[in-house]
Amino acid sequence: MARQIPLDPQGRAHSPDDQATHDDSTHEICADLAYRRLAIVNAVFFGRPDAGDREWVLIDAGVVGTTGLITGAAEERFGPKARPAAIIMTHGHFDHVGALEELADRWEVPVYAHTLERPYLDGSASYPPPDPSVGGGLMSMLSPLYPRGPVNVSNWLRDLPEDGSVPEMPEWRWLHTPGHTPGHISLWRKADRTVIAGDAFITTRQESAYAVTMQEPEMHGPPMYYTTNWENARDSARLLASLEPERVVTGHGPAMEGAEMRQALHALARDFDRLAVPDDGKYVKKAAGEQKGGEYRKP
Ligand SMILES: [Zn+2]
Ligand SMILES: [Zn+2]
Repeated sequence: MARQIPLDPQGRAHSPDDQATHDDSTHEICADLAYRRLAIVNAVFFGRPDAGDREWVLIDAGVVGTTGLITGAAEERFGPKARPAAIIMTHGHFDHVGALEELADRWEVPVYAHTLERPYLDGSASYPPPDPSVGGGLMSMLSPLYPRGPVNVSNWLRDLPEDGSVPEMPEWRWLHTPGHTPGHISLWRKADRTVIAGDAFITTRQESAYAVTMQEPEMHGPPMYYTTNWENARDSARLLASLEPERVVTGHGPAMEGAEMRQALHALARDFDRLAVPDDGKYVKKAAGEQKGGEYRKP
């Protein structure tokens, strides 16, 4: 299985001291942004250390069983019993919503998502089945076993504001970056050119259990087995590359920064069909959303 665009591990956005720890700790990548790797996925924390109760935001909510890890990491960073002011969802795949129901109930906190992602978060729809034939790795092969929802946080669920602002994250904008899912979003802060990309592109080869374990950095298109509209995914990667980000934190893989990352993102966006799109696969032939509503399945 070919790597897409290998990245130099020196381009990681956090201090080199904690690279030896296999990423099992919270990594701060700038004064008010940190992320924690939870088995196969990242959760992102917005807010300064010791920000306190309701003074920070969680972006995405891990895999099932990570509630304690997320609350522990949050309390370590923001203070004892510190609850977020909001949870922002890049999208609703199982590895981003695993602890969401428990966290929303425990914290009594609004959960914001794109309106097109709402059906996956209010219990009314499941995602189309993943395509285990693409990517060639163990994670792809096992993908039919992954839960497809639905998750139901309808009590807490709110649509993101139509003006592009992000609740509780004043300098940030949300950008619709569909393709991996219909309502996928990324977050962007122009002041320091930071992107929170979700799975619009990622920095590890998520199809491979080995790469996921080792967290070898590489610039990589969205996880193949789950991406159901490759044309939209290509447009989304191009949109994010056009921002010329200085720093990116993605749903999978280490946060990366600097010129090499940026060049790799441009190369991925430019040559997306060859690098990121699988040679074959059911959603390559026919996007799941081609007929209106085709991406939403009965639970
Ligand atoms: Zn995903
Ligand atoms: Zn993911």
